[in-house]
Parts: sequence; structure tokens; C-alpha cells
Amino acid sequence: MEIKYNYSLKNHNTFGVQVNCKTFVRLNSQQEASNYVQNQLDKTLPYLLIGEGSNLLFTKNFEGTIIQMQNKGFELIDETNKNVWIKAAAGEIWDDFVVWSVEKNYAGAENLSKIPGTMGAAPIQNIGAYGVELAEIFNGLEAIEIETGELRRFYLRELQFGYRDSIFKQKFKNKYIITAVILKLNKFPFFKIEYGNIKAELETLTYENLNIGVIRQAIINIRSRKLPDPSELGNAGSFFKNPFIDVKKHNDLKKLFPDLVSYDLENDKYKLAAGWLIDKAGLKGYSKGKVAVHKDQALIIVNMGDAGGQEILDFSEEIRNKVYEIFGVMFELEVNVI
Ligand SMILES: Cc1cc2nc3c(=O)[nH]c(=O)nc-3n(C[C@H](O)[C@H](O)[C@H](O)COP(=O)(O)OP(=O)(O)OC[C@H]3O[C@@H](n4cnc5c(N)ncnc54)[C@H](O)[C@@H]3O)c2cc1C
Repeated sequence: MEIKYNYSLKNHNTFGVQVNCKTFVRLNSQQEASNYVQNQLDKTLPYLLIGEGSNLLFTKNFEGTIIQMQNKGFELIDETNKNVWIKAAAGEIWDDFVVWSVEKNYAGAENLSKIPGTMGAAPIQNIGAYGVELAEIFNGLEAIEIETGELRRFYLRELQFGYRDSIFKQKFKNKYIITAVILKLNKFPFFKIEYGNIKAELETLTYENLNIGVIRQAIINIRSRKLPDPSELGNAGSFFKNPFIDVKKHNDLKKLFPDLVSYDLENDKYKLAAGWLIDKAGLKGYSKGKVAVHKDQALIIVNMGDAGGQEILDFSEEIRNKVYEIFGVMFELEVNVI
């Protein structure tokens, strides 16, 4: 265990916002996490779990304890002819796990290549990209209850996964320290290449037989062209969630905007592309002070220098309100505002 006091979080959030916390604790094992919350954590002050801070926006100093799991390791815990079950420590970097699984030829995670962050945070918002969500390969997780220090196991259905959502973003928010995640991968891959421009990207690559390593490479190529690198330009990926609307609202918007980008979810709901709405509102590349809508990716808000968290949040409100005025659609935030 490692404890620091009055510690800067600038290098612990991908927006690069300068804030301090009162206490910063790194925990190296499940046992350490259990002991810490039972004997040392001051529960009268606020506390917050953190991974790599790639989905967080700090708007002020954090007057409490930031807890980071640093445990490491992947372990094959079960196997059949078709599948493997891997237990991965929460402190592992998500993409290191994808690299490991692709090397072993265990399929299922390759479309989620290069998503920043840790294993422990992956279930929180059911990370997703390129037609795949964590839920599809998730089996269960282990977590320490902060109130009692007890170890609990949660399985797929208990997580109540939704679009960028799980029970750990709702009822169990900040109640558990996730210490390990169990993933079920496939020995016989089922390639998912229909989404977006994966197929077009594959055509630019040289390979004999399609495999998960090639798919990973295609995804990396697309992502590195499309997304700003937080080490160069502070950001937390998509700032807003893609909104869901009903059929009537969809038809009304389609009349006004025939080029509206939407996806029929076949349950009387449509999903809109939030980036398209921001772009259509004329806000792609829009900037104020040190904050901007990314010039190529309208769904990403970037910190162009030393913007404060509140400044970024205020800017995002302006975007939200402008989009609402034009389309009558209010965005929900994907980023966790602290
Ligand atoms: C450039 C960029 C691209 C991105 N692309 C995608 C994408 O394609 N798809 C996608 O889904 N997301 C994407 N994201 C968002 C981000 O990568 C994910 O949300 C990721 O899972 C966050 O991991 P983290 O470790 O940084 O979590 P943090 O940002 O540190 O924390 C996120 C949440 O998880 C909680 N948490 C963290 N660790 C634990 C733990 N051990 N136990 C309990 N709670 C915990 C935190 O309290 C917080 O509520 C992107 C972000 C960036 C910067």
C-alpha cells in the first residue's frame, strides 16, 4: 500500500486538469483493499475509486480519499473446447489485456482494442466500441464492499448492463472496490467486422487469413486517425452519450433534417449520433478560452491548455443547450463529473 497526502491529480485524469486530493491511496491486492476500508479509510470524508482517470472530469479539489487498485495479473481459471474464462486483476490496463488475449488467440475483446483505462473500470460503463460491448464477454467480477470490507461476487445478470451503463454507475456507485473481472473468451472466433469502416480498413492491410490480430490492427488504425491522443490534447473520449428518442420525435426530426443520422433499435426507439447533432449545430471545432469541440470528432471536448474542470463543464453545458435549442434533444453526460 502507498499513501500520499495533498497529492496532485493532474497526471491521473486524461483531461489534464490540475486539482489536488487530500489523500491518494494505491492498493496492491484484494486483501489490502479489504483491510484498508475496514481499518484506515476515513468514511466521514468523500472517497472515490480511480483507474486511469480517462472517464473523469474533476471540477474542484477532492477533499477526501482517492483509491486506486494496482493489483496485476491474468489467470486462466476454466476452459472447455470452445471457451476460456480469464480472471484479470482490476489494476491491469485494459488494452494490455486485449494484447494478451489476441496473442493467445482468445477472441472477443479485439474490437475493444485501445480503449484507455483499467480492467476495474471497464464494467462500470460497459465499455464499447466498433459493434462490441464488454457485456458480450463479461462473466463476473469480484469486489470489496467499502462499508464492510467483505468480498462479493457479481455475475453477468446482476450487472444490469446497458448502453454505457451498469449497476455500478447507479445503485452501487462508489459502494464497491472492483478487484477483479472474469471474462469469457472464445477459442473459435466469430469476427465482427460489419460495424463502421472496419471492412474498408481491412482492405488496406496485407494478410493471408483474417484473424483477431488483423482486426485489432484495423481498429487501432481507425482509432489513431479519429481520436485525439490525451497525452497531446487533454480529453476523456466521448463527452456525451448518444441519445435515444421515440418514433414520433424521430419522424419529426427526419422531416426537418432529412440527413439525420439515426439507428433503428427496433423497440420503438432510435439512437441518434450525438456527434452528428453537434456538427450539424455548427459546433465542430467551436472553442472558448482553452476548451474546444475537437475539430474532427464533434463528440469529444478537448482541453487545449490549462483549462480548469469547471470551465470544461460550463463549455459542455453550452454545447448541450445549443443542441437542445436546435433539435429538442438533451444530452446525458458519458463522462463522470466529480
Ligand atoms: C481517447 C479516449 C477514447 C475513449 N474511447 C472509449 C471507447 O471507445 N469506448 C468506451 O466505452 N469508452 C471510451 N473511453 C472512456 C474510458 O476509456 C472508459 O470509460 C474506461 O473504462 C475508463 O477507465 P479508467 O480506468 O480510466 O476509469 P476512471 O476514469 O478512472 O473511472 C471511471 C469510473 O470507474 C470508477 N472506477 C474506476 N476503477 C474502479 C474500481 N476498481 N472499482 C470501482 N469503481 C472504479 C470510477 O470511480 C469512475 O466512476 C475513451 C476515453 C478516452 C480518453
